[in-house]
Amino acid sequence: MHELVIVEGILEAVIPAAKEHKAEKIVAINLKVGELSGVVSSCVLEYFKSAAKGTIAEGAKINVLPIPVAVSCPDCGYQGGLPKGSYHCPSCGSAGFKIVSGREYYVDTIEAE
Ligand SMILES: [Zn+2]
Repeated sequence: MHELVIVEGILEAVIPAAKEHKAEKIVAINLKVGELSGVVSSCVLEYFKSAAKGTIAEGAKINVLPIPVAVSCPDCGYQGGLPKGSYHCPSCGSAGFKIVSGREYYVDTIEAE
């Protein structure tokens, strides 16, 4: 169900934006998806097919571009990536780091004509 809400959000964002630019058809949507966002791209693609039916986004290609996880550690000042499956700062081993990116997802760009 989560993915359906995401797809509806995408359509609500891209359709008015495309219309504003007098586009008649959305050809492609470049979606940025954080590795920790929990968004399952195959589900997004599946829901998109039916949700976009009858809209100017029908048949648009969805390109899912992953956003890598990045953390910031208050203990040692480390800023950067986190190895997959690791829950400790790669620099000092602290578990008190903050996740600065990788949980978000958003429409990066769209291609329309
Ligand atoms: Zn650290």
